[in-house]
Parts: sequence; structure tokens; C-alpha cells
Amino acid sequence: MKTAPVALLFLILNQMHPSLLQDSVRGCPKEIPHNEKLLSLKYERDRETLMPPPSPLPSRPQGFKCLEISRWVICGLIGFLTGLIACCIDIAVENLAGVKYYVVKQNIEKFTEVGGLSISLILWAVLNSAFVMVGAVIVAFFEPGAAGSGIPQIKCYLNGVKIPRVVRLKEGPMIHSGAVVAAGVSQGRSTSLKKDFKIFEYFRRDTEKRDFVSAGAAAGVSAAFGAPVGGVLFSLEEGASFWNQMLTWRIFFASMISTFTLNFFLSIYNNKPGDLSSPGLINFGRFESDVSFLDFSTLLLVNYGAILKCVCVCVLRYVHRPCLQVMEAMLVAAVTATVSFAMIYFSNDCQPLGPDQSEDYPLQLFCADGEYNSMATAFFNTPERSVRSLFHNPPGSYNPLTLSLFTLTYFFLACWTYGLTVSAGVFIPSLLIGAAWGRLFGILLAAITPNGSVWAVPGKYALMGAAAQLGGIVRMTLSLTVITTVYTVLIIVIHLVVPQGLYDIHIKLQSVPFLHLEAPATSHWLTAREVMGAPVTCFNRIEKVGTIVDVLSNTSTNHNGFPVVVPVAICGLILRSQLIVLLKHKVFVELARSRLTQRKLQLKDFRDAYPRFPPIQSIHVSQDERECMMDLTEFMNPTPYTVPQETSLPRVFKLFRALGLRHLVVVDSENRVVGLVTRKDLARYHLGKHGLEEMQLAQT
Ligand code: ATP
Ligand code: MG
Repeated sequence: MKTAPVALLFLILNQMHPSLLQDSVRGCPKEIPHNEKLLSLKYERDRETLMPPPSPLPSRPQGFKCLEISRWVICGLIGFLTGLIACCIDIAVENLAGVKYYVVKQNIEKFTEVGGLSISLILWAVLNSAFVMVGAVIVAFFEPGAAGSGIPQIKCYLNGVKIPRVVRLKEGPMIHSGAVVAAGVSQGRSTSLKKDFKIFEYFRRDTEKRDFVSAGAAAGVSAAFGAPVGGVLFSLEEGASFWNQMLTWRIFFASMISTFTLNFFLSIYNNKPGDLSSPGLINFGRFESDVSFLDFSTLLLVNYGAILKCVCVCVLRYVHRPCLQVMEAMLVAAVTATVSFAMIYFSNDCQPLGPDQSEDYPLQLFCADGEYNSMATAFFNTPERSVRSLFHNPPGSYNPLTLSLFTLTYFFLACWTYGLTVSAGVFIPSLLIGAAWGRLFGILLAAITPNGSVWAVPGKYALMGAAAQLGGIVRMTLSLTVITTVYTVLIIVIHLVVPQGLYDIHIKLQSVPFLHLEAPATSHWLTAREVMGAPVTCFNRIEKVGTIVDVLSNTSTNHNGFPVVVPVAICGLILRSQLIVLLKHKVFVELARSRLTQRKLQLKDFRDAYPRFPPIQSIHVSQDERECMMDLTEFMNPTPYTVPQETSLPRVFKLFRALGLRHLVVVDSENRVVGLVTRKDLARYHLGKHGLEEMQLAQT
């Protein structure tokens, strides 16, 4: 039932997506030539040609095949390693939670009679804070980039923005981990580990690396939720701005391998080899029957997620010193423990222990023998398990007061936790909050309707609530359908009702030049002339070394791309990184003549320097060398993309999105350079309250 829309989607995607580069047919020819060696001239191109950027390619046909095979191998490796990491995380979390549970439980049992409950409370709080401290210290002092879920950063990276250190080796939630693994594996080396395996050197380029990172993110999602298709859809909707069909299959492959690896090793760990019943870290369990009706009133609650977003953004960080950050994280952990403890203690929602109890640990806590504390199933559990109980425990397992108190407190705790200096996100907390109010809603519905039995499946409302809450917060609608296995209709409503996801808000607050799907709606009257940067710093094809060094050293401009001109007309474009490699190897005209035996600069020298090119200050150029000349002809991109000044902003925007451009040169009718457009010039324009607004560019 739920697979049908997904299958349809894939069908449509498969049919439509390559439209950017593929020809389509205009009108039907009268007669189709049945000859595979023939190309008909009747079919015309329906758009103007968009040529892919020139890139160094292997010259022999076997080269292409080898490359393609390496890509698949890399994707398999990415999936395997991501699955392995997920497996380790899962085992560690289960064991740590188990230890915490037994220690605290035994303590409570020991002290309930003697009346020393505060000791149990302190123990819990200390355990919580200790775990959190380890996490927070690592993040605050060693790798601040690992804070949060990593999803906004990965989104930006896949959009084409370089976020410093985003894919350096570090731990992080699954999506981030997958991306990091992918970046490391695909480059055949790790800068953090200072190791170069001298393999996959061809892939040391932005475009290739980005493709692999989207595969890694997909593998992460797939391992977290046991949903390979969900992983692919996540990469498709959240990430990869530049997509092609082969990518779909490679990413799907990585996702499958990752789920399978996790499943395989976990089933061995659980002593059920070959059983393969734990495909994801978060397993929602199976619903016996499909939801047999659709309750539209639930849909109205979707926007509830928006409130959480606002609060989260408000608390988005006011503490900046690492020590304070660690202390804050520990404080939050301790407060969480205290609040949970108080809630469990004061709740008198004791339920009889049924024969088919789904929890592994019977959470008796302060209840009589043969009973369990239902507040504790929500609070004193790993959140994944709490979600599962909310979904599957039989009607009557929770009383409404418990659920409402839980929703409220957990909500505020989640807000406070968001953006702490630990590697954690809002994904699971929002699922849990949603499941709690969903279930509450289901119970109330059953109470107020006369024919209660029809509505009496609170677990299903919990599922809807979870999907609505998560959708309201992250707005990842396509992948959610698959991940939470919920009705497509609900998801479509989320898509329509929720204006912006939390991750997008996060990205906006960090002033990242993010290119959305489309140019702002009212920007048609803007042209390249208005948005471009001018006058442009250009180089001559044969340029003095001193001039190049001076331009690159100018910290006030710090540009990365420079058009190359011959007298005035454009003949190429060269990047700062290329110039730096040239200067480093002293590829000067005079030296080349005097030392004919000198090794020629090769593509490999550029790849080896990727992605961390040295700064210009670290390159020494003597006074004599400054007088030398440098011939850029061989190294520049001889066919940079250019547009006339009259091109509209939406058109420029489309070029940037479709081709993944970095610099677009604006020329006049004589091919003279008049301006330069970069993604920052485009991202400056956004639709505000008063129509089109323009943001300032600042060096921060
Ligand atoms: P990126 O930062 O994406 O690597 P970049 O550093 O080359 O690219 P931006 O930082 O986006 O360029 O440029 C900031 C501003 O400077 C933009 O308004 C852009 O138009 C302008 N600009 C970029 N390169 C040049 C150049 N060579 N000459 C003049 N202006 C430029
Ligand atoms: Mg820049």
C-alpha cells in the first residue's frame, strides 16, 4: 500500500530527471527508422545545449569502465563502513543504557525502603552528566564542527557551499558519519589520519567528491532507519543538487549495503545469525493492520511542529566558550535526569505487567510488584524504545495525564538540548514528542466519540503524530514517507502547510550562500548586469608573476576566480588554487626555457594539493622571480561559461543550479569581460515581507 506511491515516484523520476541533459522529442516523426546504426535528423533539440564543463578524462575506453567500476566499489565500501559504524553505535548505546538502567534501578530498590531517594536521583544525574561530558568535551575542544545533527552542514555541502572541516574525520549522528566516511573513502586518503593510500586519485575533485558524499549521507539514513529507499530519497530531496541516473543506482547500492551490513552484524551480535531482523538503528516495529481510515483532524496538528522550531531557534546558542559549553551540556543532562526522576516519582500511573510486554526491561520503579510505571516507559528508556512502546503498547497502557505531562516536559527539554555542543539532533526527540501527543490525541478522540471502539487504536495516532511532528520540524517530506511508513496524504499536507524546515532556518541563520531550488519569484526584472560584481580583476594570458602575487595577496578582495583576457576579450578562467600550485612549482616562462629537462607540471600535482591548497602567504617568491612571466594558457579553463549582460536572474540561477557553477563571466557583445557572478551574488536576493530583499555581503 505504501510502496505504490514510491514506486510511482521512482518511475516518474526515472523518466523525468535526465531531462536537463537529454534530448526530448518534439512532435512525432511520420516514420521511425528501424535501424540501430542510424540517427534521425528529424528529432530536434528542445532547449539550447548545456555543455558539461570540460574535465580531464581518461583517453582510453577501458579507462571509463575502470572509473565506473571504481565508483561502484567505493559506494559499496561507503555502505559497508557506514553500516559497521551504525552497528557499533547501536551496540554501545544499548549497553550504556543497560548499565545505566540496572545501576539506577538497583539503587532505587535499595533505597526506597530506607528513604534515601535523593541518592538515586543524584546517581542518575551524575551518570547522565558523565556520559554527556565525554561527548561535549570531544565536540567543544576537538571538533566544534561535529555539534548538532550535521544535517544542515551536509545540506550546504551538497548544495555546493564549502563549509570548513565539514567532512573531516569525526564522530557524528548517522547521516554525518556516512558523509564523513564517504569523503574519506572516495579520496583514498585521510587528512586527519595523515595517510594517503594512493588510490582513487581521479576522484580528488569537488564534483566527484560531492557525489560520494551524497551516497554516504544516504547510507547513513538507510542505516539509521533501515530504509534504503528512504536514504536515496533523502539525498535526492535534501542534498544532491546535481543529479543523474547513474547516481541514483550507486546511491541506492550504498544504502542497501549499509542496511545489510548493519543487519548482518547485529543479528550475529544478537546470536541470531541469518535472522536479519534488525535493518535499522530505529525500528518502529510492524503495525498489524493498516490504518483503515484517515483522520483529517490529525493533520491540523501538523503546524504544532512549527512551535518547536521557533523555540529551538530562539535558544540557538548564547554560550561560546568551550568550558562553558561543556558545563551547559552537563547541566542540561542533570536537569533532564532530575525532571524525569520527579515525573516518574510523582506519577501514579502504574499498569499491570501484561504477558506480552514489549519492553525488555520491566520498568517497575516505584510501582507495586507485577506492575510497571508507564511514565518510566516514556522517560527511562532509550528514546527509540519509548517510541516503539508508544506505537505498539495496547490501548490503556498510558493514561492521558501521563502523556500530556510527558509531552510538555520533553518538549521543553528537547528545545533546550537543541544546539548544545554535542553530536545530537532533533530527529528522534521530535518523533518521540509526536508519538506522545499523537497517542494522547487518539485517546481523547476515543473518549469523546460515542462509538469509541472505531477510534480505539491509539498506537496509530502515535504514528501519525510522530510523522506530523517530524514533518513539521524538518520538512523532509519525501524521505519521511518511506522512513516512517506513513500515509502519503499526510506527508503532502505537511509539505503544503509547513513553510520552512528547521534545517533551512538554521542555514539561514548561519548566513550560508545557499541556492534554493528556484530564484525568488519576483526577480524576473533583475538582469546579470544588476547582480554581477564589477569591475572584474582579470589576468593577461601571459602575466607578470609580481602582479599575480599582489592580486592573490590582497586580503580585502580575496577572490577565487579570475577571467583571463587577451587584450580585452575573454579567453579563459583560472582559479586561485591553480595559480597557487603554479607559483609553488615556479612554472615561469623564463625558467622553463633555461631548464628544459625540468619535469612538466602534471594534473597529479593539482590533485595532490586538493582540497587544502596552501595560502599565498606560505609561498615564497623572490624579487627576481617577481619580474618573470607566467603563461596561463595551458592551465586555465579555456571555455568558461559566459552570459550577456541582459540575461535575467532566474536564467542565471538555473545555470548555476544545473551546472553547479562557481563563476559565471558576464560579457558584452564584443566578448569583453564586464562583470562576474558568483553564488553569493545570487544568494543575496530573497523574498522578504516587502518583496525582493537584498542582503549585504560581509567578510565574516
Ligand atoms: P567562492 O567564495 O564561492 O569560492 P569567490 O571567492 O571567487 O568564490 P565570492 O567570494 O563569491 O567569489 O565573491 C564575492 C564578491 O566578489 C562577489 O560579489 C563577486 O561578484 C565578486 N568577485 C568575485 N571574483 C571577482 C573578481 N575576480 N573580480 C571582481 N570581483 C569579483
Ligand atoms: Mg569567496
